[in-house]
Amino acid sequence: MDISVVIPLYNEEESLPELTQWITHVMNGNGYSYEIIFVDDGSTDDSFRIIKRLSKDNGNIRAVRFSRNYGKSPALNTGFRMAQGDVVITMDADLQDSPDEIPELFRMIKEDGYDLVSGWKKKRYDPLSKTIPTKLFNATARKVSGIKNLHDFNCGLKAYRRQVVKNIEVYGDMHRYIPYLAKNAGFTKIAEKEVKHRARKYGHTKFGLDRFVNGYLDLGTLWFQTKFGVKPMHIFGLLGSLMFFIGFLAVLTVIILKIVSICSDDFNFYLTKSVYFYLSLAAMIMGLQFFLTGFVGELIIRNSAERNNYLISEEI
Ligand code: UDP
Ligand code: MG
Repeated sequence: MDISVVIPLYNEEESLPELTQWITHVMNGNGYSYEIIFVDDGSTDDSFRIIKRLSKDNGNIRAVRFSRNYGKSPALNTGFRMAQGDVVITMDADLQDSPDEIPELFRMIKEDGYDLVSGWKKKRYDPLSKTIPTKLFNATARKVSGIKNLHDFNCGLKAYRRQVVKNIEVYGDMHRYIPYLAKNAGFTKIAEKEVKHRARKYGHTKFGLDRFVNGYLDLGTLWFQTKFGVKPMHIFGLLGSLMFFIGFLAVLTVIILKIVSICSDDFNFYLTKSVYFYLSLAAMIMGLQFFLTGFVGELIIRNSAERNNYLISEEI
């Protein structure tokens, strides 16, 4: 099979017939063998009934329905597990992404040999409240992930070599960082393609402004996991040692001041009035906590399936 189109959707009943017709038109026009995988993320409208009806006319449609709304990431992950095509293309259900982009995305994976091609909505048809923070967000994501050539991490329209989607797990709200997940899994040939974007025709966006707060928190988590995920002691041990060192200097200062005060008649040292006393206490306690966090992290990693999870690219 050439292409699997994975479409996560949540209450998009109005768009589905038009979207399906458009995708089918592109697929037939280019002679691709394909499947369309709809993942209904717990819609409360008529979406799934419409998909059922569409699938009666088109044997290439597969669909699953979540029992409730879990989120776009779990929906994509489910689609990725199901996909059988050589190239997997994800697309939003709201007709903001154009199926006309499929042939070129397919070609870039197949012929140019990219692992992942991400769409870039250079000209966006979204409200300013979304486009401006998005610019900032993408700049940070570029810096943190080291994927310097992507302008638009969270574009719903993306194409992947099948091996990529089978080797990454999208969970939580991590769909914003799939290129980063792919890079961490060893798929580094990542490119971008400018794509046409349209305003939402029906319904409304499913994400509020909290997307930016959550997005930044998730980026921090991913960065941390990438750097210290299997060696937490490298960071917590370092911080703990630093704290112990500060505490040691503070204790030393306290001891010296005490000796000086014993030897001198006109200098009195009161332990509980000394800033060094409190500094030594705080630093030692924090140092111990860092170390314990590090040890607990190491124990968790010891029992994790991820600790020796490598992707082998070639063998002789
Ligand atoms: N979506 C989903 N589950 C959710 C939220 C969104 O499957 O909990 C789908 C939604 O139906 C659409 C895609 O994810 O197909 C992108 O969502 P949306 O268009 O609301 O995001 P925006 O374009 O505003 O970033
Ligand atoms: Mg949209």
